[in-house]
Amino acid sequence: MGGAVLRIGLTGGIGSGKSTVARTLVACGATLVDADAISRAVTAAGGAAVKEIAAQFGGQFVTPDGAMDREMMRQLAFTDASARRRLESIVHPLVSQETIRQYGQAVGAGSACVVFDIPLLVESGRWRQQVDQVLVVDCNEATQVSRVMARNGWPREAVEKVIAGQASRAQRLSAADLCLYNDGLPLDALDLQVRRLAARFGL
Ligand code: ADP
Repeated sequence: MGGAVLRIGLTGGIGSGKSTVARTLVACGATLVDADAISRAVTAAGGAAVKEIAAQFGGQFVTPDGAMDREMMRQLAFTDASARRRLESIVHPLVSQETIRQYGQAVGAGSACVVFDIPLLVESGRWRQQVDQVLVVDCNEATQVSRVMARNGWPREAVEKVIAGQASRAQRLSAADLCLYNDGLPLDALDLQVRRLAARFGL
């Protein structure tokens, strides 16, 4: 991926406010490429990864409507690291392909700035060279926990487990070119900060 378009990699831990920031950037005219949504789509009913998943893991990993059986796959991938790698080797190239396609479409449409929403940007490593700048949305863990408990209705332990499985704040911050500290700050103040940033992105 190259060219005159500014490519921003947006990341942040669960509950950091990443989706909220992404929405404001889109409202300012950025094009959003959502890696998480793409990754769900390739394993959803009729998705490009499903046939290969059935071939490699067996038909029992596909639901009657033709989607990957998420719960079965989660259980397998949780206990079997090699299965997890095999699944990733099916899914990642398809996600890359679709990401590049959407990026090309944005370039073709004359977009000034493409925001790649990549939850695991820091964890996966391979994204760094594909973006111009990494924007990290950061907040305290206690804030992450209370936001996700409220948003998803999850118990505290469930949120803590997800946080424990993600990159640490320090790892994320060390990968950041830009950081939005989204803590103890009302939503309209966040919105204003994001709009200032958008102006710097040429939006
Ligand atoms: P992420 O995409 O990082 O998981 P979201 O953008 O969905 O996080 O934010 C998590 C929840 O916290 C949402 O319900 C959102 O509205 C809320 N939230 C985010 N930032 C703030 C803030 N500065 N003040 C109040 N609520 C916030």
